[in-house]
Amino acid sequence: MALIVQKYGGTSVGNVERIRNVAIRVAQTKKKGHKVVVAVSAMSGETNKLVSLANQMKEFPIGREYDVVVSTGEQVTIGLLALALQDLGCGAKSFLGSQVPIITDSAFSRARIEEIETAGILSELKRGNIVVVAGFQGVDRDGNITTLGRGGSDTTAVALAAALKADVCEIYTDVEGVYTTDPNICPDARKLKKVSYDEMLEMASLGAKVLQTRSVEFAKKYNVPVMVKSSFTDAEGTLVTKEDKDMEKVIVSGVTYNKDEAKITVAKVPDRPGIAAKLFAPLTKANINVDMIVQNVSHDGHTDLTFTVSKADFKKALQLVEKTAKEMKAGKVLSDTNIAKVSIVGAGMRSHAGVASKMFETLSKENVNIQMISTSEIKISAVVDAKYTELAVRALHDAFGLGKGDVEEER
Ligand code: ADP
Ligand code: ASP
Ligand code: MG
Repeated sequence: MALIVQKYGGTSVGNVERIRNVAIRVAQTKKKGHKVVVAVSAMSGETNKLVSLANQMKEFPIGREYDVVVSTGEQVTIGLLALALQDLGCGAKSFLGSQVPIITDSAFSRARIEEIETAGILSELKRGNIVVVAGFQGVDRDGNITTLGRGGSDTTAVALAAALKADVCEIYTDVEGVYTTDPNICPDARKLKKVSYDEMLEMASLGAKVLQTRSVEFAKKYNVPVMVKSSFTDAEGTLVTKEDKDMEKVIVSGVTYNKDEAKITVAKVPDRPGIAAKLFAPLTKANINVDMIVQNVSHDGHTDLTFTVSKADFKKALQLVEKTAKEMKAGKVLSDTNIAKVSIVGAGMRSHAGVASKMFETLSKENVNIQMISTSEIKISAVVDAKYTELAVRALHDAFGLGKGDVEEER
């Protein structure tokens, strides 16, 4: 008998019929003799609607009340799933994040889980009940409701699995696993049998939204085996696990894209020490993460500075940067929200040269202009015009031989 944590995403609980389908799957796992804890997302589209409502009410709504609003989608689905399970004759009880409780810090809209009290869940499991937990939400030490960032139900599930020392965390979604790239934009994408925590971390943080980045951080830290599977088929999924020798052989294991960033350029910044610190300090203070940064060669004591932030932070970041640019007597502030970051990821890149030049040649052959570049040990990213995203992803996927026909044996 195992303890299994399962997570069902938005599409998987998108309507009443689908919730019934999820209940049947959960009940089957229970009937095999396992203890089951289920984390669920809001119905697909619901969280977007809630975010839009909050944005209509106030210019920068992020804060305590924002999380009160956007966390509500999950309250509906846990109740409905518990009802569906009861209708199948299973004992089931739903828990909000605050009822577990899942204790987080107070960073509204991007809170981090600090602790999960497991006593309540364990006593329900002991009674033979299935426990249904709301994904995406928690509570801080002052009793305020918090949310974990978009896609945060994945993190709820993995954190529950870690806290409960579950045997496995199964993430059920609308594709059959983790692929070499998003199967919805590249029909040739190949499903991976296994992927290392580190590669998955890079892929997730570079846009492969099949798992939220923080969920992979948790899985790595607590060594939780994560299976990504479809909630609509019985196909074998992808195991996210520790790196093994086979994985190192693969130079590039995936291509990702992220359309959720925007670019800001400050022209003619006086080129003297301390200027970057001055420009970015207000952003740090406002809790805005800066991703890529490029500084041009200096001309007549002035330079151009370009950086990217998430689209959610864009308006606020622009406002802050315009103010600082004026103070430091810089030139114009330009911005572009029609960009995409396209990346290649692979553990084998550490030991192979020439990967970057191949990537740039491939994009140039397709006439895709590269606006910014950044690299790490196991990834290379390029910012391009958003309209070329699909073209760039498919070309890179092809160039690095990631397609179904290119590999004899699936790893
Ligand atoms: P859920 O609602 O179940 O959490 P998400 O929409 O958050 O589902 O994540 C699943 C989606 O992630 C897929 O539909 C797919 O379009 C996208 N995706 C992006 N990159 C990948 C990848 N490398 N492998 C699998 N899916 C990916
Ligand atoms: N419902 C939340 C979102 O849409 C959390 C999740 O789906 O994981 O971001
Ligand atoms: Mg998701």
